Amino acid sequence: MTTALIMHDTCARHVMSPSHPESPQRLAAITDQLKERHLFDLLSHIEAPEVDYAHLVRAHNNEYVDTIRSSSPSEGTIHLDADTAMNAWSLEASRRAAGAGILATEQVASGKVNSAFCAVRPPGHHAERQTAMGFCLFGSIAAAALYAVEELGMKRVAIVDFDVHHGNGTEDIVHDNPNVLFCSSFQHPHFPGYYRPSVEGQLVNVPLDAGTGSAQFREAIEAKWFPALEAYQPEMLFISAGFDAHREDPLASLALTDQDFAWITERLMDTADRHCEGRIVSMLEGGYALSALGRSAAEHVKVLMQV
Ligand SMILES: [Zn+2]
Repeated sequence: MTTALIMHDTCARHVMSPSHPESPQRLAAITDQLKERHLFDLLSHIEAPEVDYAHLVRAHNNEYVDTIRSSSPSEGTIHLDADTAMNAWSLEASRRAAGAGILATEQVASGKVNSAFCAVRPPGHHAERQTAMGFCLFGSIAAAALYAVEELGMKRVAIVDFDVHHGNGTEDIVHDNPNVLFCSSFQHPHFPGYYRPSVEGQLVNVPLDAGTGSAQFREAIEAKWFPALEAYQPEMLFISAGFDAHREDPLASLALTDQDFAWITERLMDTADRHCEGRIVSMLEGGYALSALGRSAAEHVKVLMQV
């Protein structure tokens, strides 16, 4: 199995404030663990390109993309909301994060690699069609899924999101697109605080109470996500891989362990093997306890690599 690791140095130059939990150290925590486990050198390393704006306007309207472009400061920091800011590198970092998703999709769909993990930031799943929020500027995974549909001609792609926060941005962009099934699990009530009701064959939302641990999480996912994925038979599987449902994470209150992220990845690999020759594109979303993030992401990537 060849798994690509798609990254770019500029993703570590996007800094919203010195103490912001969505920090450049998150990427180092992941690569450190991949090296520690002797996985890093077995990955196929690819630099994330800057996305073409044509790919972004499938997920966002033109005005929104123009606003983000024109908000980019030449120095200092500007705030888009209380949680989300841009420094001089943020626009390029966001374009490379989205560009990683597009390139990953092309590489996996064409069979150049079996799967890809995009270790990029800022994350993207909270960015709505016309609103930046929750540390996110562009809906990278939604743009990648829409590229698969509109450019590669796929009829059914699935996005699954196990970040502890609901992927409201992805939902906003794809909820009424019959070519995309979106499955999300999240702590509720918690940020962003809202979600749409599930719609068969289109949207599967699994809200979880604070304190939910491994057994309840696995039971809920088995009951809700997998029957929907089996019925949908996706041609490609996209993963919004947030690791902040970990019990050590400071931003939420679920109680998953490193092994839960290996388990969900194995289950998703099973699904992808059955329906789409194992084609998986995974993109980093949240995860703020640096040690737990590094360990959990390494578990996730190790399963993708099948080593
Ligand atoms: Zn999150």
